[in-house]
Amino acid sequence: MTGCYGRTKPIFGDFAGWLGALKHVMIVRVKMNKTGPKNLMRSLVQSLHAYVPGEQPKIKGLIKLNTNENPYPPSPQVLATVKAAVDARLRLYPNPTAQPLRERLAKFHRCSPENIIVGNGSDELLAMATRAFVEPACCREGLPARRRHHIIQFFTPSYSLYPVLAAIHGATANAVPLAADFGIPPVAELRRQRKWDFRAALTYITTPNAPSGRGYSTAALESLCRAQKGVVILDEAYVDFANENALKLALKHPHVIVSRTFSKAYSLCFQRVGYFVGHPELIAGLDKIRDSYNVNGLGQVAALATLDDLSNYRKNFQRIVATRDRLARELTALGFRVLPSQTNFLLVRPPVFRAGEWQRKLRGRKILVRWFDYPETSDYLRITIGRDDEMPALLKAVRAILWQPPA
Ligand code: PMP
Repeated sequence: MTGCYGRTKPIFGDFAGWLGALKHVMIVRVKMNKTGPKNLMRSLVQSLHAYVPGEQPKIKGLIKLNTNENPYPPSPQVLATVKAAVDARLRLYPNPTAQPLRERLAKFHRCSPENIIVGNGSDELLAMATRAFVEPACCREGLPARRRHHIIQFFTPSYSLYPVLAAIHGATANAVPLAADFGIPPVAELRRQRKWDFRAALTYITTPNAPSGRGYSTAALESLCRAQKGVVILDEAYVDFANENALKLALKHPHVIVSRTFSKAYSLCFQRVGYFVGHPELIAGLDKIRDSYNVNGLGQVAALATLDDLSNYRKNFQRIVATRDRLARELTALGFRVLPSQTNFLLVRPPVFRAGEWQRKLRGRKILVRWFDYPETSDYLRITIGRDDEMPALLKAVRAILWQPPA
């Protein structure tokens, strides 16, 4: 035995070579055990805390109100179109730039396809934005001070993915608290507080906000956008349940991008389709770093079919909003503090028990809601609006928990 293990003495012949090889393998294994494969990763990844998505358990009879999915299925027309597309075409790559969908979205938003990029869910695009617009903290030397190239900024509480994206990219996260009522402080107040960075390379704003559900006026968003030097992403994942949207800001200000998704209002979480609307130069930059076939073919088919059936979906939004407002009134009557919502969920502060305990008690009754154990939210539960026939079951469980005799 020679080759990479090399050393052989004629007297021992192959046996000596074999022993040498064995010894080498054992040394490598001992070294590996000492340090472990973990040490083959970048130290940034070793110490990373990954994003924690809401659980997706398959429990029979479970009422799932924890991940802000739409409780109603896609329209019959969308389902039929997707089913009809499941044929021999599955062997082909999909359209690499989702061009027909971009064209359709451009018509819908009265802009050009060059204003639009489609992603594998809006999460993919939010992550791509860090790579396109932000320098990792280690690489900022020599860059002009006009912008703070390594800073990713967001309010807290908002979408808990943003700090993870900053950490993955090795950027510096600037997390600034919202006002006590989850409102965005006015620009003058942000300047006075001196925590907010008007030169941050990238700012994410969840509007309407998650997890509070609070909506923001386009005028307030515009004055903040005007004050920012870097890119601002208005994450409108829940905007179809809100009173207004800020899409026009993306077509007016070259540094503003609006992020949308088919997941929530359009019942297509499973298909993973989201998109950005923004200035063609920013969109072209993002397109350079996009995976070649990032949006799967059935997702493109489903999103196109959805845009052909919007009247159906508008009825769906209205129904969810009506259920939301009814549930808010009923929970308020039961002693919950319910925050005003412009989304498909409610953030509520429950009475009697701590929020974490409520989550466990509801889970015991096969109702899943979300509890975020962060300082600003640990007193609250986030409840996704379910189907009309699921809400009485939620209220029944709430009453039973409230009125159960102490153990
Ligand atoms: N933004 C916000 C505020 C969200 O809550 C979510 C869903 N968790 C997303 C973006 C991402 O949605 P998707 O990737 O399904 O488009």
